[in-house]
Amino acid sequence: MCVLVKPPTQAEVGLIGGSGLYDPGMFEEVKEFKIYTPYGLPSDNVFVGFYKGRRVAFIPRHGRGHKIPPHRINFRANIWALKSLGVKWVVAVSAVGSLREDYMPGDIVIPDQFIDMTKGRVYTFFDGPTVAHVSMADPFCPTLRALVADVAKSLNIKHHVRGTYVCIEGPRFSTRAESRVWKEVFKADVVGMTLVPEVNLAREAELHYATIALVTDYDVWAEKPVTAEEVSKVMAENVEKAKRILAELIPKIPKPEDKVECACERSLKDALV
Ligand SMILES: [Zn+2]
Repeated sequence: MCVLVKPPTQAEVGLIGGSGLYDPGMFEEVKEFKIYTPYGLPSDNVFVGFYKGRRVAFIPRHGRGHKIPPHRINFRANIWALKSLGVKWVVAVSAVGSLREDYMPGDIVIPDQFIDMTKGRVYTFFDGPTVAHVSMADPFCPTLRALVADVAKSLNIKHHVRGTYVCIEGPRFSTRAESRVWKEVFKADVVGMTLVPEVNLAREAELHYATIALVTDYDVWAEKPVTAEEVSKVMAENVEKAKRILAELIPKIPKPEDKVECACERSLKDALV
């Protein structure tokens, strides 16, 4: 039996930190909440604080100290926790491998599509008796993606406004044969392990959701051996870029009174059976 504790606070913006981004250090008046959900505990306590007048809730996807591998992340608890705080906008940050020469290590990608190659995750809040089939034709929030792109441009950070993200099960990396399939058959652009089912669940929770994907290296199709040292150097630089983007982005995220064009907050309107 789960005890549902609603924290005595609310947030507008949710931030899910990926590899390297565990620290909500940029926020003020940070409070930490242990949020019990019907699906168990989120990856870590949720940190709620202020940034330039906006109230932000932060969850490190892998937990502090990177203790949770991709296939063990409690995605439902993470999304439920943010939703329970009143969050409407979710910005996710994740590290990816590149499947094309021109998406270079150090670049930022703002995916607009994904291909799900995961194998054993829990993909939905609707396990019955309520059945829902949400539309995932355009899985990311167009309003939020455009905002991220504008901010990256204004900061002169090299970025790509589109990309297809192949999500693999992990925790192992792809074989060379798999990597060539993602690149040459699927024509995908980046590969990672954490987008699915986070993106599906955000849609089911009627949240605006976009991912800032940070390219750390070329996937094994490139046959360019990289050292762990090189990857961690790029990752550290990428995390700094992500923080600069977030610092500019958060104040620009629409407020409840602002009109937005996207239909993210009405995802379930025609989805329930
Ligand atoms: Zn939206």
